[in-house]
Amino acid sequence: MRKPMIAGNWKLHKTIGEALDLASALKQETAEIDDIDIVIAPVFTSLAKVAEQLVGSNIALAGQNCHPAASGAFTGEVSPALLRDAGCRYCIVGHSERRQLFGETDAFINEKVRSLLAAGLDVIFCIGETLEEREGDQMYEVLATQVREGLRDITAAQMSQVVVAYEPVWAIGTGKTASNLQAEEAHAFVRGLLRGLYSEEVAESTRILYGGSVKPDNVDGLMAQMDVDGALVGGASLKADDFLRIIRFRR
Ligand code: 13P
Repeated sequence: MRKPMIAGNWKLHKTIGEALDLASALKQETAEIDDIDIVIAPVFTSLAKVAEQLVGSNIALAGQNCHPAASGAFTGEVSPALLRDAGCRYCIVGHSERRQLFGETDAFINEKVRSLLAAGLDVIFCIGETLEEREGDQMYEVLATQVREGLRDITAAQMSQVVVAYEPVWAIGTGKTASNLQAEEAHAFVRGLLRGLYSEEVAESTRILYGGSVKPDNVDGLMAQMDVDGALVGGASLKADDFLRIIRFRR
């Protein structure tokens, strides 16, 4: 049985004060929940303070990005070890916004995955096709390349530290969620890729989250799909009520 995960990607939103308010509301309301992994990813500047606030909670902290180097002349970047130092257990890698707006390649994303795992962090590894790729019948090829290249040289044992997030680019921030069937098809395909690259055991134990306009009113249907193990939530993770309703999904 895969433990569900609900993760909130706050993207470029919230001051430290606002982040603390939201984290505190979430902490209070999730004190009894232990059968779901709950993760939030605030901006870098809030991480350390939010980490202090989350002590004793069931909520884990994630960075939204990192640089693969441990240290050095990389102005503006943050290393896996520094994320850990700030209180993170996870880091999101390969988000489509990083790929599209910041030109991140599969090879660079793979370096980050390796560096994070070596530093002892868990990885939320994002993949997903654009609308053009989907309509051009390239979706499966794109997903296969992203998985193969992004996870290159990651061992079966290390896969226990990796969560995959399928986020179709056309569904992110657009209000257009993938249908339950579209999500299930893509997730089943990705699980099949893991079976081929690793083993039945890795395929069955790796969690695959869905991301892209997940809201309180569509989470139940998505979570009812056999291969959907959780959600990576953007906009709806910024309000306590919405995010809490998503955490309390009903299958
Ligand atoms: P939205 O939920 O706002 O569509 O964002 C999804 C996302 O990109 C999460 O990483």
